[in-house]
Amino acid sequence: MSRAGLRFWSAALAFAVFMVDVLTPLEGAVAVLYVVAILLAARTNRRNDIIIAAAGCIVLTISAYLISHDLETIASPALRALVSLAAIGITTLLVLQNHAATRRLAAQARLLNLSHDMIFVRDRGGVITFWNKTAEQTYGWSSDEALGQFADKLLRTSYSDRREVIETSLLDTGRWEGRVEQRTKAGSILAVDARWALQHDHLGKPVAVLETHTDVTDRVAAHSALVQSEQRYRRMFDATRIGVVEEDWSGLRAALDSLPTRGADLRDYLARHPDFVRHARGLARIVDVNPALQKMAGASSSAAFIESADKLLGENDRSFLDALVAFAQGERFHEGETELVRLDGRKIPVLFTITFSPRSDEDHDVLVFVIDITERKQAQDALLAAQADLAHAARVATLGELSASIAHEVNQPLAAIVTSGEAGLRWLRRDVPDLKEVATTIGHVVAQGRRASEVVTRIRTFLKKAPAQQDMLQIGEIIAEATALVARELAKDDVALVVETEPGLPPVRGDRIQLQQVLVNLLVNAGQAMSGRPGPRTITLRAGIVGSETLAITVQDSGPGIHPNDLPRLFDPFFTTKDGGMGMGLAICRTTVEAHGGRLSVASTPGSGATFHLTLPYSQEHASP
Ligand code: ADP
Repeated sequence: MSRAGLRFWSAALAFAVFMVDVLTPLEGAVAVLYVVAILLAARTNRRNDIIIAAAGCIVLTISAYLISHDLETIASPALRALVSLAAIGITTLLVLQNHAATRRLAAQARLLNLSHDMIFVRDRGGVITFWNKTAEQTYGWSSDEALGQFADKLLRTSYSDRREVIETSLLDTGRWEGRVEQRTKAGSILAVDARWALQHDHLGKPVAVLETHTDVTDRVAAHSALVQSEQRYRRMFDATRIGVVEEDWSGLRAALDSLPTRGADLRDYLARHPDFVRHARGLARIVDVNPALQKMAGASSSAAFIESADKLLGENDRSFLDALVAFAQGERFHEGETELVRLDGRKIPVLFTITFSPRSDEDHDVLVFVIDITERKQAQDALLAAQADLAHAARVATLGELSASIAHEVNQPLAAIVTSGEAGLRWLRRDVPDLKEVATTIGHVVAQGRRASEVVTRIRTFLKKAPAQQDMLQIGEIIAEATALVARELAKDDVALVVETEPGLPPVRGDRIQLQQVLVNLLVNAGQAMSGRPGPRTITLRAGIVGSETLAITVQDSGPGIHPNDLPRLFDPFFTTKDGGMGMGLAICRTTVEAHGGRLSVASTPGSGATFHLTLPYSQEHASP
């Protein structure tokens, strides 16, 4: 019934009692029925309604008495009226007390509604008797729908343990805590941390259970994702062939912070204090090391690895110092190459990358990834050796082609020696030997002998398998030597060689024989391209300065030129269009020139010759004004 209805019926009842009291001869006996009117008013839950109803009933009781009796004779009706008044007063007091208690309870229930947790109360039979707001929102049933239902049935609770075991523990300790799964009205499953508390009556008999549920579905999902990710990374860590070590560098951070130097001077300071660097190495605490790195270091276990960690970098290692500087400067990554000293003493070359945690981070966790590059190094060495062998073979092959020229060069001074010797003999055999002439001819013999020896030396150095040199070279001399080597070969094919060298060219730094070989190759190729072709055969070799630090040499021929299809592959190893050609000449030339910091390119118009363009850097200090 609504509040207005209750007020109406309460007033109507009081009026009816009043009428009966006044109009019947019951003489106040019905006045106790006013109590019912007060109880009806109390059901509105309003304190004012109770007070108004009580006051109204008192006024009506007294009015009825005054209307029916006078004040002169006080007899039993007066007593009845007084009893009625007392009943009204006592009832009012009780009702007001009850009202206050209900209000207190309601306030407490409102507090439970404020909770972020789902809270409900069920009696010992499992029937829900209280259901808070969060339970309504999360589980989807309103309080009206939930009250009177069996909690387990409504929520289709699934327990991780047997229900009886849980119940026993609840009865023993008065409490239970555990993770359960609940189903909402919409059917979704929630993971919930449940806490139960048993409520007893004044005799100590259990009467109800207060259940508090915290929804941990998201937390459980996040945790299981974390576990999965952790497992995934663990698998990578354990199974990868890359060595990984996790280290804690907090000790290093503290040690670096205590240094008097920071910033740019740190590297100098560390270089001057090798003891500090050695000490710092011991401060890097190894947290974990994967099997690949243990194997690389020849350690049988992570304990063995950690035990001998300070010996893994050789005495002369610079990489740790570099890493320290990078760490101090707040870099995120550092890469380098070093040698790892295995437990058996064998050294292996390794590449490493270090990732540092951001500087703002409290922890100084560092991950070091290590790759064994022994095989790569061996392959690289083998490649370099093969390249050197090929270069040598190409030189021998070139010289094979030039042998006629060489024979001629040596032959010429030898013939001159013989001629001079014979002339000398003739001067000697004269009746009066002309010793002056003899001395002159012997002088010629010596000079020619020297020339022959120079030719032989030149050829021998050209053929020698010596490591590359870094000398200051006059490019004019190199051109003269190279053209001398090929002169005869070119003459044989009727090729005219024109050399135009700018005067006063600055020296370049490099290897004499290698640069000579480049020019010899270009000249021989040009000669071969024109060999047997009609028309004038000319090679023009020009040398001059371009720009402020580059020297340029061009070798231009008047041969057939190069087919456009061949141009992109011309410098590839083993590309040749000649029968019996090796196709190594230009490849080696380009590698040589690039190793000297220069470039080698070609331009060609088919039918009108090819021009090879070679640049080399020269040092400004040596440039002539
Ligand atoms: P090879 O001389 O053994 O063939 P090279 O690497 O010296 O090897 O030359 C590769 C190819 O480049 C030659 O076979 C030739 O076809 C082409 N070539 C080189 N120089 C010239 C040139 N001056 N004119 C035309 N073609 C040339």
